[in-house]
Amino acid sequence: MNEKRVLDDAAMKQVSGGSYEKDGYRYYEVFGVDENLCTACELCGTVCPADCISFTPYAKIDLNYCVYCGCCEGECPVCAIGWKTFSEKIGE
Ligand code: SF4
Ligand code: SF4
Repeated sequence: MNEKRVLDDAAMKQVSGGSYEKDGYRYYEVFGVDENLCTACELCGTVCPADCISFTPYAKIDLNYCVYCGCCEGECPVCAIGWKTFSEKIGE
């Protein structure tokens, strides 16, 4: 819940799950990859119809092109993909 992560501008504009503020932090619901779980197996990339997953080495979804079909989520063997909550301190 308190995972600190820098989101790029594209992700910020596509916060499809919404956002809210609490206790000096802004929380975003973002569809993405939990790099703490990802094993960089690249399986998700083989099923993405939008070809919007890159590996550096962990999977990263380009939300500018993602169509939220969920194919990658279903393919991931370690459940690293899904809706995640990220936070940033307000004013930073
Ligand atoms: S939800 Fe669909 S389009 Fe988006 S990254 Fe996953 S497979 Fe690709
Ligand atoms: S399928 Fe899951 S573990 Fe494999 S690269 Fe994609 S997000 Fe990472």
